[in-house]
Amino acid sequence: MPSLTMSSTLVVRPPVAVSRTKRPSSRATARPHGPSPIRPVDVSRWSPGLSRRGRLVSTPGAIADPEPPSSSNSASTVIVDAPDVGAHGSGIAPSPPQPSKTVIVGGGPSGLFAAIMLARRGWRNIEVWERLQRPPSPDANEIWGDPNRSYCIGVSGRGQIALERMGCVDRVLSYCKTVNSRMDWSPQNPEGKETISNKQYATQVIQRDRLVAALLKEVEEKYADAVTVTHGVQCVSCEWTGAGGAILTRQPTECRSDEHKSGDEEDDDETCEAPPVDDEAGVRVTVPVPFVVGAEGASRRNAVARAMDDDDACDAKMVRFEDTNPRVYKTIPINLPESYRDDLNYSARTKGGVALEALPTKEGLLVGILLVKPGDKETCAKLESRESLRKYFDEDFPMFTDFITDEDLELMAKRPLSTLPTFAYCGGDSLHRRVAEDGDSSQEAGGACLLGDSIHTVKPYFGLGVNSAFEDVTILDDCLTSAAGSGKWTEALADYSKRRAEDAKALVDISRSFDGGFLTFVLPLILDGIFSKLLPNVFMPNTIQMTQKYDWRFSQVAKRKRRDRALQVAILASALGAVGTVAFMVVRTLVGLMIGAMTGGLAA
Ligand SMILES: Cc1cc2nc3c(=O)[nH]c(=O)nc-3n(C[C@H](O)[C@H](O)[C@H](O)COP(=O)(O)OP(=O)(O)OC[C@H]3O[C@@H](n4cnc5c(N)ncnc54)[C@H](O)[C@@H]3O)c2cc1C
Repeated sequence: MPSLTMSSTLVVRPPVAVSRTKRPSSRATARPHGPSPIRPVDVSRWSPGLSRRGRLVSTPGAIADPEPPSSSNSASTVIVDAPDVGAHGSGIAPSPPQPSKTVIVGGGPSGLFAAIMLARRGWRNIEVWERLQRPPSPDANEIWGDPNRSYCIGVSGRGQIALERMGCVDRVLSYCKTVNSRMDWSPQNPEGKETISNKQYATQVIQRDRLVAALLKEVEEKYADAVTVTHGVQCVSCEWTGAGGAILTRQPTECRSDEHKSGDEEDDDETCEAPPVDDEAGVRVTVPVPFVVGAEGASRRNAVARAMDDDDACDAKMVRFEDTNPRVYKTIPINLPESYRDDLNYSARTKGGVALEALPTKEGLLVGILLVKPGDKETCAKLESRESLRKYFDEDFPMFTDFITDEDLELMAKRPLSTLPTFAYCGGDSLHRRVAEDGDSSQEAGGACLLGDSIHTVKPYFGLGVNSAFEDVTILDDCLTSAAGSGKWTEALADYSKRRAEDAKALVDISRSFDGGFLTFVLPLILDGIFSKLLPNVFMPNTIQMTQKYDWRFSQVAKRKRRDRALQVAILASALGAVGTVAFMVVRTLVGLMIGAMTGGLAA
């Protein structure tokens, strides 16, 4: 594993005067050339506890854990090793005969990506049902330049490899901003510490909704004859048929497009109009569908995942974990002046465990996410008015406050708190609904499967959500290729479960361990750091770095880490045992000598 030793210096300059009342229309006017000026910050208010914290590794383009692990590293720059690159195939593969109709429920990143994958295989009559309204064109720079629109997500190597394979990487990347490294402020690094990420694939940042808009454009420009995307419709019912397919019902709905779901039904109720119970207006559409793909994200209102969960004949069961470390958040635009670098993931933390993570849009403005513990009533109260927010930013985030307008603080105050999703995965080793062997042979054989956040919901601390969702689609693609010989596309579904269910669970298990405390997160990182440095041929780097190895499955990472951990414990136990044995022998010898001396003295 190559390890670079390059370093980077950030030059500190006086802050640039920016209007607090008016958001700049563009960054492109007054930006002097040269390195980023980063403003020193008075940290007297930051806790000594936090001053010991640092970052062992970091992932640009991901929201940092608000309480990251401690580190003794006080250098201004940390280099992260380059991950290996996976060898995924590319090109259009042989396909078994297609079903007469496919409905993908959910037109988010994974649903649209799945539609592209199927259309590239030559499938036709693919429908995507999306309850949100149609997003604006990804080219509407003025709209997407508004950082109040949707949060930013980082597309890492895993995601880029998948996008490349489906022929849409150039389009998506044309709307992204490249992020090369992180800039973290913490009490021990009041002037900020840059972490250069030496990755083969630089993280590409894009607003979640703009990613959707870009994929939609890809669908409509290249696959309009195969795919129809309908917005503002919600799948409200999914009833399985004897032949394996489903009868799906959809109806118009009025979901707000700025919805940030939490996976919580009450939260979803706030953002989506409850569907009408009867159908007097005749707005419901009910259709038989041989192949159903559930790409509905983390919401508990999922129709397809819930229908599988409720079906005794189906092994796909949702496993949801209680959130033991919940976070709520609000987004805030940060108008960095031209003199600041716009290729960084800016991040700052306070003594109370509040974190502000900011990623740039293509237009160069930052979208910040302020993450707060819901139990922290004092801080939550400060987020409710423009005045208290300004005071809060002045005191706790002085490095950003000059670049936030009063207008945006007003909008932030009015915006409700969103909740990060709780961990969940689709368990039972199955991500599909099996095709009934004794099914009704008079009907077309059918089946269903799930992908994306529906099968692995994680907190976005390490940027694995959308990237693993794209990978799900490439794996389903592989399975359809493998099923070509059988002549039955339904054969691909069990194969998909076999190849992906274990990884969905492993991804959630790994991410949950990141969300833990000292024993499950910090200590393993410290141990991995020490052992992989001492014995690089025996021990792998820490789990976070391992998840960035694009050719490693998440289940492989989990297994390898279990092996590393067992070996580390064995070595430490042996070392402790050896030290104990030596100490025991020394004590025994000393005691023997003393007794000998005493008895010799008595005899004399
Ligand atoms: C604040 C935040 C930051 C994040 N940062 C990152 C990051 O840096 N990197 C990363 O990889 N991931 C990140 N993620 C996670 C990422 O956004 C998700 O993993 C990704 O959006 C999952 O895509 P999806 O299509 O599976 O689900 P979603 O994006 O949730 O899309 C599902 C779609 O289905 C629709 N839908 C649901 N039910 C129905 C129904 N019954 N009928 C019709 N439509 C329906 C929904 O409206 C939605 O549009 C972040 C998430 C959050 C909240």
